[in-house]
Amino acid sequence: ASLFTAIEMAPRDPILGVTDGFNSDKNPQKINLGVGVYSDDDSKVPLLQCVRKAEAQLIEKLSPRTYLPIDGLAAYDKAVQELVFGADSAVITEKRAITVQAIGGTGALKLGADFLKRFSAENTQVWISDPSWENHRALFEFAGFTVNNYPYYDAATRGVNFAGMLDALKTMPRGAIVLLHACCHNPTGADLSSDQWTEVIQVVTQNGLVPFLDMAYQGFGDGIDADGEVVRRFTDAGCPLFISNSFSKSFSLYGERVGALSIVATTAEEAGRILSQLKRVIRTNYSNPPIHGGQVVATALASPELRALWEEELAGMRVRIREMRELLAKKLKEQAPAHDFSFVTKQRGMFSYTGLTKAQVEKLRDEFSIHTIDTGRICVAALNTKNIDYVVASIAKVL
Ligand code: PLP
Repeated sequence: ASLFTAIEMAPRDPILGVTDGFNSDKNPQKINLGVGVYSDDDSKVPLLQCVRKAEAQLIEKLSPRTYLPIDGLAAYDKAVQELVFGADSAVITEKRAITVQAIGGTGALKLGADFLKRFSAENTQVWISDPSWENHRALFEFAGFTVNNYPYYDAATRGVNFAGMLDALKTMPRGAIVLLHACCHNPTGADLSSDQWTEVIQVVTQNGLVPFLDMAYQGFGDGIDADGEVVRRFTDAGCPLFISNSFSKSFSLYGERVGALSIVATTAEEAGRILSQLKRVIRTNYSNPPIHGGQVVATALASPELRALWEEELAGMRVRIREMRELLAKKLKEQAPAHDFSFVTKQRGMFSYTGLTKAQVEKLRDEFSIHTIDTGRICVAALNTKNIDYVVASIAKVL
């Protein structure tokens, strides 16, 4: 037997598997509601104007492609910090926050996971929401952690089972790592209210848990600052804090892999030690990050004109998704009056847990060429004024 003989076939990625199915579907009317990508009213993934303009500036002053520092482009790290914490944040002025460029939000999570595995007590475990982004569990398991679920989604109300979540937080041991979605929960679209965050922050700080905020959708909920509010409330509470963020969605830069990991320490001296160790994690993984995406984002965020343009374009995406939620709920009410879909308008971000069963999802795919995830999650950002009537009519037929 060779080294490879006993290797078993790995399970297919549930979401990329949907895309495979979509790609091989011959029906010209086919629609992919599976993947988490924003597309415009013409079903196209936008290339934002602010990105075009930033790239034009970069091309004008064509620079050599030397290595970036291990922790990334300094201008990028600074811009990210101001976006995530707020420009006037005490954790920035007191030099208690460190931010390193990462290979997308996924890369940021993995850096955080590897760092935590190295420096947490040996039996430290991770808790993620039930359900969560499907990569969270595997990512932390591959970093060597045991991963548990805390209750989150309540199918009966299509909202958050907050009592269950809070009870679970209260029973976690000190030092436990708890992964929280800062806004626009993926996959459910159900977020905590401001008052519920207050209670979560209280339990997290009192019980000495280590919060890891995944913020892949800043700007898609209620706006850049409103969505970042959760981060600010955690920093005010004064606990150690991990934040992964991503520009894949907010700059429509999916393939450039631009994200960052930020860690908040108690003192500047502590932050220095953390950064030195985080650099070792990076150095032994991929040495240093790629240049282009980070430069585009840093250029756009540093220029008042491009920054304003970005905010406008991001607001455009946010508003369009919200309009699709309103339309979806309204049209489903007309065509399937026996079913209540009003929850769709209360959910935030790109996704909705529709409550469609696996059998209904299969029927949508096999009979109507509408492809989505078995759990009934749909990407609302893939709906548009041209495909929504067909989607609603098809859903009404499978209900
Ligand atoms: N975290 C969540 C909750 C996500 O939904 C995603 C992307 O879908 C990511 C992280 C990863 O982001 P990126 O594509 O930048 O790696």
